[in-house]
Amino acid sequence: SALLRARQLHKMYRTDGVATPALRGLDLDVEAGEFTAIAGPSGSGKTTLLNLLGGLDRPTSGEVWLGATRLDTLSRDRLARLRLQEIGFVFQSYNLLPVLSALENAAFVLELRGVARRERERRALEALASLGMAELADRRPNQLSGGQQQRVAVARALAGRPRIILADEPTANLDTESGLALIDHMRRLNREQVITFVFSTHDPRLLERVDRVVRLQDGRIVADERR
Ligand code: ADP
Ligand code: ADP
Repeated sequence: SALLRARQLHKMYRTDGVATPALRGLDLDVEAGEFTAIAGPSGSGKTTLLNLLGGLDRPTSGEVWLGATRLDTLSRDRLARLRLQEIGFVFQSYNLLPVLSALENAAFVLELRGVARRERERRALEALASLGMAELADRRPNQLSGGQQQRVAVARALAGRPRIILADEPTANLDTESGLALIDHMRRLNREQVITFVFSTHDPRLLERVDRVVRLQDGRIVADERR
């Protein structure tokens, strides 16, 4: 059965008495090993969906399952632990810690998990190397380009050996060339290490490089194409 399953997801945001429906009854299955893009215009629900799939937020109703574990009803603590162990998340704005080197950033999830220093540095360096970043391991984020910073963020997700990596518009702050290069790195990791990726984008050029495009509009899936 599917690695990640969403069932009848509804998300309603309430701010100052105003209710905004962001997802309206969405069903999605992601199989292990897939390389999937979530496409759709701004406001269609991409960020909301990825946040729910990654357990960063909870649905108003519906279910999210990672394998045999239902995420949306887990306690805050168990969800935090599960995220640390099993889900890699890559943010649009990298979210690297500015005072840490690329290596320390890539090792950060492992540090939170209590992995011993030598082991976490070994795994972080291996992850950086698989993204072509081994030579820049000692640099801090402000000494790296946007594309390099995002590769460190992918390495941080990868170093934790999660079951799935979710990325919310990972190329949104990158120029075209670095954006395509990032997706090509993710694609290679997907093929060589069988890492399951789901990422959102509104850049049509990236969609030529994926197995599957799920299109959102107004909080619903309007197309689901496999290539
Ligand atoms: P996308 O990522 O496709 O741009 P979002 O998931 O960010 O879409 O947003 C979907 C809808 O939910 C939009 O109408 C957006 O304005 C609204 N929304 C998103 N986050 C919040 C929030 N924290 N509070 C209120 N409304 C929100
Ligand atoms: P994206 O770049 O994916 O479209 P947005 O720019 O829509 O993301 O949203 C950026 C952040 O602002 C997200 O964390 C989202 O939850 C929040 N947000 C989006 N729309 C609203 C809103 N109407 N009210 C409050 N927060 C919002």
